[in-house]
Amino acid sequence: MEYPSPKNQIPVFFEDTSVAFASKSDTKLRKTYWLFSLMNQARVVNLGTFFIKLALKLNLPIKNLIRVTIFEQFCGGETINGCDPTIKMLGKSGIGTILDYSVEGEDKETSFEATAAEILKTIDKAATSETIPFSVFKITGVGSSELLEKIQRNAVLSEEEKISYALLKQRVEKLCLRAHEKNVRIFIDAEESWIQGVIDDIAYEMMQRFNKDKAIVYNTYQLYRHETLEALKSAYLSARQRGYILGGKLVRGAYMEKERLRARENEYFNPIHISKEATDTDYNLAIDFCLDHIEHVSICLGTHNEYSSQYCALKMKKSQIATDDDRIWFAQLLGMSDNITYNLAKAGYNVAKYVPYGPIDAVLPYLIRRAEENTSIAGQSSREFLLVKNELKRRGIGSL
Ligand SMILES: Cc1cc2nc3c(=O)[nH]c(=O)nc-3n(C[C@H](O)[C@H](O)[C@H](O)COP(=O)(O)OP(=O)(O)OC[C@H]3O[C@@H](n4cnc5c(N)ncnc54)[C@H](O)[C@@H]3O)c2cc1C
Repeated sequence: MEYPSPKNQIPVFFEDTSVAFASKSDTKLRKTYWLFSLMNQARVVNLGTFFIKLALKLNLPIKNLIRVTIFEQFCGGETINGCDPTIKMLGKSGIGTILDYSVEGEDKETSFEATAAEILKTIDKAATSETIPFSVFKITGVGSSELLEKIQRNAVLSEEEKISYALLKQRVEKLCLRAHEKNVRIFIDAEESWIQGVIDDIAYEMMQRFNKDKAIVYNTYQLYRHETLEALKSAYLSARQRGYILGGKLVRGAYMEKERLRARENEYFNPIHISKEATDTDYNLAIDFCLDHIEHVSICLGTHNEYSSQYCALKMKKSQIATDDDRIWFAQLLGMSDNITYNLAKAGYNVAKYVPYGPIDAVLPYLIRRAEENTSIAGQSSREFLLVKNELKRRGIGSL
């Protein structure tokens, strides 16, 4: 791996799998190995995905199988209280939890209302827990994606759509207001570029209302887009002019293929950087910018990238920012990149896991994405698989 500067200056390393998997017993580690070795095979993932979808449609009793395998690896539970053991387990290692209600694809006003009510509960839960530093939601969880798209392209809305949009905004306001009242920070996740403009507008409106003294509301910046670094800088200037603190979750971006496809089909300029290197450069420049303006910015690095995590740690050291400065957090997804999370926590940085939860059939699309992400690419084993393999080897135990 390439290091951001001479190795002896780096304040944290991620190779130590003994730290990464300290909370896993030998039995649990073997099970994780078995799961990642299955996911490592694209054919198994494709077939598995097909049969799981079919079995759920036919009401075959496979939920238990999903629960004790992939669900257990990547989700905290089916309900908020069901996540308690995970919250406790992470807390013991100094790692925070971000409860992520991961129900997808529901597109009715009643579902939006139910999702908003559930997110309110996660905010309340965070307010009473010392190890839940943030709450999070997606705007498309509380309102229609189609409607957001129409608004972004300035289409004329029907009366019914106008009401739906007013309801969407009311729900967002209610969530941010509750977060503010309870002093719980809240992330607004970033989504596809064709709706992100409206999401940004809503996020800035909320920040202006609730971030006067500290960052409560955080917008998300996808640095895989050409324009995001400049947008982040403008957002900072605007926050300064209007007298509020900018909250930013920095991510690379999750919708690259979808973005490229749509740009190609509709013959517009692809908003995604031409290369991974360009994305990486902007991501690290965004870290630079935020740390250089940390008096008025609070950030969370949502990344599994070791270089960027070390880059930030090193820059904090050089800028004499304490490792546990509450304005700077790192976050990874549950079940992934434990080597980054646990080593950061051990070195004294603020770090948390996104802990997805929800009924098994409702979180299935999320689980399938995680499985696909962990398949081997061009014959190369996934990183997670290799990490678990290394730890088994270090403990001197076999995989079965
Ligand atoms: C805590 C957390 C919160 C997140 N929240 C969001 C969110 O709100 N919205 C969202 O969209 N995503 C979110 N993500 C996902 C994130 O955007 C990335 O998809 C994912 O984390 C992989 O990027 P990375 O930085 O971890 O690692 P890496 O493996 O270093 O980077 C992979 C990423 O690089 C980019 N990339 C890869 N190849 C290319 C290429 N050829 N050209 C240009 N760019 C390329 C893509 O964004 C890809 O996902 C979140 C991730 C985490 C851990």
